[in-house]
Amino acid sequence: MHNFGAGPGALPLPVLAAAREALRELPGAGATILEISHRSARFEEILAEAEANLCELLGIGDAWKLLFLQGGARQQFALIPINFLAASGRCGEYVVSGYWSRTAHAEAGLAGGSAVLWDGAGERYRRMPRPDELAFPPARAAGAAYVHYTANETIEGTQFRELPEFGPVPAICDASSELLSRPLPVERCAMIYAGAQKNLGTAGLTLVAVRRELLERAAPSLPAMFDYRRLADAGSMLNTPPVFAIYVTLLVTRWIRDDIGGLEEMARRNRAKARTLYRVLDESGGFYRGHALPESRSHMNVTWRLADAELEPLFLDQATAAGFMGLGGHRSVGGLRASLYNAVSPASCRALAGFMAEFLRCHG
Ligand SMILES: *Cc1c(COP(=O)(O)O)cnc(C)c1O
Repeated sequence: MHNFGAGPGALPLPVLAAAREALRELPGAGATILEISHRSARFEEILAEAEANLCELLGIGDAWKLLFLQGGARQQFALIPINFLAASGRCGEYVVSGYWSRTAHAEAGLAGGSAVLWDGAGERYRRMPRPDELAFPPARAAGAAYVHYTANETIEGTQFRELPEFGPVPAICDASSELLSRPLPVERCAMIYAGAQKNLGTAGLTLVAVRRELLERAAPSLPAMFDYRRLADAGSMLNTPPVFAIYVTLLVTRWIRDDIGGLEEMARRNRAKARTLYRVLDESGGFYRGHALPESRSHMNVTWRLADAELEPLFLDQATAAGFMGLGGHRSVGGLRASLYNAVSPASCRALAGFMAEFLRCHG
């Protein structure tokens, strides 16, 4: 089927083929990818190549540390304040632009002082803040341990066209639903993290890229598995890492680099895919109603409702029958959502646009 699921989402076909092969036998290993030791030379190679490819694609160098963790993006919601807030006497500042950033902020409140720099709830999270809305009052900047924001709000379907800049305040970016969908200006970030199951691979792996400078500010004497510094010092092998998920992410990085041709090209493809669907919304005469305001429209998650909400179940039934899956909105908001992660092909997007135009013709 055409998979528009929000996560775990579609994976590229060549990645699935190589993963399948590794479940028969990992080339040269005499065993499958599920059975080799994480301390083996073969896995060390896999981890080193995954790390090198990710650093190259992200454009991060020696100033950064890349961690392969578990527990999902949500675990980072807790680890960030535990490491950078609890013992600092400073405040964690949050940009609340939707469900995920709101959830991250709620976790921070349990670990230390937190504050909301901007909140889009009054506008039903239909847009991301403008740069002028994120300007720090100087006194507040001095007392901030970090500022946390979400690059792409997966549920509302909004995205920063350009990542915000916060000057001297370390910026921590939840990029779960967009990492590797476009080049990011990493110089604006102190830490970037993402659960792998949206764009980077399969569930079970969480990627964290963190500047060494920020790592040094982490609280001392935390339980080992919650301690970024110890996780970094152990090279992501403090415990058994998710071997298979890391392998899949390695395959995804090869696919982006070798089959697609890099992140610029990935971004161009993703923009074009999103345009295909937003055009259908815009030309539907109000039959389809996009949730995000045009300037904040996500290239990864397109969200909309039908003017006649009673038609939504019929839309979903007919979409399933026509070979489209994963189009239901998040359980917290309902409506409809098409996630256009890297692996979703332009042809799938054109097919969905065609289906939507036909549904409009029949029911509009
Ligand atoms: C999916 C998602 C999360 C939660 O990810 P888990 O890996 O399930 O914890 C957090 N933030 C964003 C932006 C997401 O899209």
